[in-house]
Amino acid sequence: MSKTQLQRARNGELTSEMERIAERENRAPEFVREQVANGQAVIPANRGHEALDPMIIGREFATKVNANIGNSETTSDREGELRKLHAAIHYGADTVMDLSTGGTLDEIRETNVEYSPVPVGTVPIYEAVTLVDDVADLTHELLLDVIEKQARQGVDYMTIHAGVLMEHLPLTDGRKTGIVSRGGSILAKWMEENGMQNPLYASFEEICDVFVEHDVTFSLGDGLRPGCLADACDEAQFAELETLGELTRTARDRGVQVMVEGPGHVPMDEIEMNVERQQEACDGAPFYVLGPLVTDIAPGYDHITSAIGATEAARAGAAMLCYVTPKEHLGLPDEDDVRDGLAAYRIAAHAGDVASGLPGARDWDDALSEARYEFDWSRQFDLALDSERAREYHDQTLPGDNYKEARFCSMCGVEFCSMRIDQDARESDGEMESLRAETDLDESLAADVNLPPTGLHDTTAVPKLPAFLRREEGHADD
Ligand code: SF4
Repeated sequence: MSKTQLQRARNGELTSEMERIAERENRAPEFVREQVANGQAVIPANRGHEALDPMIIGREFATKVNANIGNSETTSDREGELRKLHAAIHYGADTVMDLSTGGTLDEIRETNVEYSPVPVGTVPIYEAVTLVDDVADLTHELLLDVIEKQARQGVDYMTIHAGVLMEHLPLTDGRKTGIVSRGGSILAKWMEENGMQNPLYASFEEICDVFVEHDVTFSLGDGLRPGCLADACDEAQFAELETLGELTRTARDRGVQVMVEGPGHVPMDEIEMNVERQQEACDGAPFYVLGPLVTDIAPGYDHITSAIGATEAARAGAAMLCYVTPKEHLGLPDEDDVRDGLAAYRIAAHAGDVASGLPGARDWDDALSEARYEFDWSRQFDLALDSERAREYHDQTLPGDNYKEARFCSMCGVEFCSMRIDQDARESDGEMESLRAETDLDESLAADVNLPPTGLHDTTAVPKLPAFLRREEGHADD
């Protein structure tokens, strides 16, 4: 039987995936291998995912961002899903999770895997639920069949809510918003109606065997994550976390890579404690957090409320951030929401990396600041996280080419442009020449993900989307 990245790393082997990651992260290959071998980082890379450009998730590497895509029963078509996949990758998602619950699930999943250069994650219980009339009818065999099929289809990592146990359920009784994880609520209902332990917990070792065969990575789900600030850091959340630690050790013993999912909704001042507690309970397994939202008052703006928490989580050591879009709590995101959510989360990941001192992370900031101070507008746009938007906003008021070298913009105007006034003063003092040293991003220690325009995606290597999609979207560059 083929070995997983974890097993091969423990055997001292440098895989081609590790070599490629070392190049992308600007790290020594041996460092990558060590991080995988000791479980501090994971390489989600199903052997059947041919289009994959390998990447790594771990606290010692650049913070990654996941984008959820997928349909619901009410909106479902393959082309629409491919368009979302394309938008997610175009705007910088490091992984995508296909959370589809309606329509032709197999076709959509297989197409996503076929075209995606980034790891694809799923939550298999969503599909399993569509195959029964009632949640209580789910069986261990059905769940395993679905997991095995998705592993064969090339899914790189799966959210498995094996940590929600019967004994944890009473701990949620006093909560304001109960159990908000879809997987958690399904499993709680199953346990209550059948009077039996969580089937994903009971079948955990068999799931490990499937994962070893295909090298699927666990994303251990936090089925009891808090759904509001009032429920954050309660007994239910931390009881499940202890079980996730136990499951992490079981999976690793069997050679399976593990990351662990985290909350959700957490007040700002408790985020660092949450990261530290997860790292301790799960022996340093990469922490993959959803936000967290730091306030509950802003539906319609939860990409912002959660990006604030995500920044703090990244600074404190979270390895991957699951993006939240403006539609969170309100509806299924469209392509514009995907763009806004990813921009918010790429900012959070980068700001976290700068604050935690990741080697070279700030070079991008310095390069952009230099372009800004030199009024090199074109370079500033090229370096911007979302070049198209930066250019669009500037050109709304000053569209002409002559304004691309102008020593002002419409914000302060010619007379009051403080940078021009400052430069004129420095010029007369003879200071300007010494200030013109440029940050050379080609020489930067930063990982590719910490360089513009949108992260680590060399789209020249991306398998082409169907021609009709490329034409519609006008993405001539990829
Ligand atoms: S006009 Fe104001 S905002 Fe615009 S470049 Fe000058 S200082 Fe910056």
